[in-house]
Amino acid sequence: MIIKRLFSSSFRTQLMINNQWVNSSSGKTFKTINPSTEEVITEVQYGTPADINKAVDAARKAFDGPWRQVTAVQRSELLYKLADLIEKNKEELAQMETLDNGKPITDSREVDLPSVISVYKYYAGFTDKIFGKTIPMNGPFFTYTRLEPKGVVGQIIPWNFPLLMQAWKLAPALAAGCTIVLKPAEQTPLTSLRVGELIIEAGFPPGVVNIVPGYGNTGASLAVHPKVDKIAFTGSTEVGMEIIRNSGIHGLRRVSLELGGKSPNIILDDADLELAVSQSHNGIFFNQGQNCDAGSRLFVQEGIYNDFISRAVQCAKDRKLGDPFDPTTIQGPQVDENQMMKILNYIDIGKKEGAKILTGGKRWGKKGYFVEPTIFTDVTDNMTIAKEEIFGPVLSVLKFKTIDEVIERANNSNYGLSAGVVTNDMEKALKIVNGLRTGTVCVNCYAVTTEGTPFGGYKQSGVGRELGEDGIMNYLETKTVVVKASTDTL
Ligand code: NAD
Repeated sequence: MIIKRLFSSSFRTQLMINNQWVNSSSGKTFKTINPSTEEVITEVQYGTPADINKAVDAARKAFDGPWRQVTAVQRSELLYKLADLIEKNKEELAQMETLDNGKPITDSREVDLPSVISVYKYYAGFTDKIFGKTIPMNGPFFTYTRLEPKGVVGQIIPWNFPLLMQAWKLAPALAAGCTIVLKPAEQTPLTSLRVGELIIEAGFPPGVVNIVPGYGNTGASLAVHPKVDKIAFTGSTEVGMEIIRNSGIHGLRRVSLELGGKSPNIILDDADLELAVSQSHNGIFFNQGQNCDAGSRLFVQEGIYNDFISRAVQCAKDRKLGDPFDPTTIQGPQVDENQMMKILNYIDIGKKEGAKILTGGKRWGKKGYFVEPTIFTDVTDNMTIAKEEIFGPVLSVLKFKTIDEVIERANNSNYGLSAGVVTNDMEKALKIVNGLRTGTVCVNCYAVTTEGTPFGGYKQSGVGRELGEDGIMNYLETKTVVVKASTDTL
């Protein structure tokens, strides 16, 4: 089936500052590449520190001015309008996402876009449900709290779910009443900018949302800007740590981080074999393995091990790679050459350290950044491929005997983002759920996240939670108000 591209005429490639489309102050541009063909799609303006300055000034002015006068109900209406515009343009956005990121069109259409729309609608419904408390005090005082927007927020997002990560950041911040400077990832700026156009069309006042594409140095200048009250970042643990270290430079910024993982997925002997195979397959290979919560450390109990492995290998072999615009394609390319090379290097390290490849292990095809779905067995806890985030279609399988043992080994990681358990025994499932130090645990399913469920990590997987009520609290400050009252009024 040939898909008619909806956007053949032009892409938005400039910076969006104060609802205007402008060039970079340096005149520099960068290329964005189609990862399935290695061809340049277009060139995008490269935001400099001077551009970040302008964007932050615009956000500050909007926050201190007109945006503060917009009521909660009006913010809700604007967010619903944006959700409706995304819905109206969803086929175009899905195709643009597939072009820039390489994810299969079926995923863009049926997973990413519906989730994006749900996130904007969820937070549209939250704006007038941001409540403070009344607090009894020991004395003649009337005391209450107000939840107020944190102010100007810098948001830095990655390339694995460009539209969805933009929604996870923009929707709660706008619902809370903040103003924003957002930096999309250099690999995937196109859909962020298209949503920028829809933000203007929806009627958000100038300066409320500003979008400045660029590389890491553009993000770094946003992260230390003195007029930014809060930074929200999703990406590597390495950069997240740098942001935390720098959060006290030129003032003190609040920080929330959603970082990497090496999530354990645990299959018990009594599991339904078919469910265990499909749950673990999707848990690692979905989105080309480029998921912070990928179930990349698969612990399989010894009684089911042999049956499980032969089925899991067959399932990986059957996975259809190819043109992401073909609706029957299940796996597209990795996002760029760097990521592909990084993954192939980890595969090499795995082999050298003594793990055994049962399927995959190589680049797929000659054009495009494709990597075969790869399964390693004979993996031990201290191997590099059992410890470090690979962020690709590479599964490390480890064998275990007892539940106490698997809880200890699963927790033996610097990360703590997500986990899974497959079993028919709820007693055992709950023992594992309570024993794991991870932000999410899914039982008989994997990585099920919706707009209402908090998402984030223990340990080096992050700080704070996104989505749900926790997600909006990221963007609110609590103000305590104490009013002196006479004893008569109390
Ligand atoms: P990265 O952390 O370098 O990039 C993520 C975002 O941060 C991008 O927008 C980037 O431009 C920006 N950035 C980079 N350096 C910065 C800095 N010093 N200050 C502020 N912003 C900065 O991630 P990457 O290089 O694209 O990928 C490397 C690895 O990170 C991946 O292999 C994967 O392990 C991990 N990763 C995790 C996630 C996630 O969802 N948690 C997403 C992408 C990548």
